[in-house]
Amino acid sequence: MSEDSAVHLGAVTQRIAAAEKAANRSGGSVTLIAVSKTYFAPEIEPVLVAGHRCFGENRVQEAKGKWPDLRQLYPHIELHLIGPLQSNKAKEAVQLFDCIHTIDRPKIAQAIATEMKAQGRVLKLFVQVNTGEEPQKAGVMPADASAFIAMCRNELYIEIAGLMCIPPVDEEAAIHFTFLAKLAHAHGLKALSMGMSADFETAIAFGATHVRVGSAIFGTRD
Ligand SMILES: *Cc1c(COP(=O)(O)O)cnc(C)c1O
Repeated sequence: MSEDSAVHLGAVTQRIAAAEKAANRSGGSVTLIAVSKTYFAPEIEPVLVAGHRCFGENRVQEAKGKWPDLRQLYPHIELHLIGPLQSNKAKEAVQLFDCIHTIDRPKIAQAIATEMKAQGRVLKLFVQVNTGEEPQKAGVMPADASAFIAMCRNELYIEIAGLMCIPPVDEEAAIHFTFLAKLAHAHGLKALSMGMSADFETAIAFGATHVRVGSAIFGTRD
């Protein structure tokens, strides 16, 4: 039954294309990150066989256990870290991932900057903003976002590609997407990582360049 994930991928891809069109955006302007956390090769491989190459994981350790092998089999995979990062995992994260969406405090930004330099790798980086100001959620507080972005640029000399957010579950996602888009625009940042299975079309309407879609492709997680 695992081939279902390839069928679901096709459906999500079509919905993205329709949402791009509805928003008067050019086809292909949105990158689909297939979030494969908690799933292993039997579910992931049909999506790779279907030609998809862009995946998201929320844990360094879990990603390390499955992606090096899959990368041997399928060339040109782009891997995104979308979960919180501890600074003691920065080295492995820079080795394994191509993009990190969860830069949210000086210690992490510093650790990533140091590792990119040491490894001679340049990752695409997003600053996560806690747009709902939720205490349990990661991300820089909106009031601190400008200073944090400036610090990354001017003190650590790392390029920030864009912003990422996870809206509170019980609030209108559109409000958070609008806020994030404005904040990114104010800082000249082009990439916007926003939208998940439940709201990726809304996110595209508000300018998402990267949507992170898990359950709509792989099925509901336990
Ligand atoms: C799990 C996860 C997703 C995907 O969520 P779905 O609702 O399954 O699409 C997106 N972003 C982050 C940060 C996640 O942890």
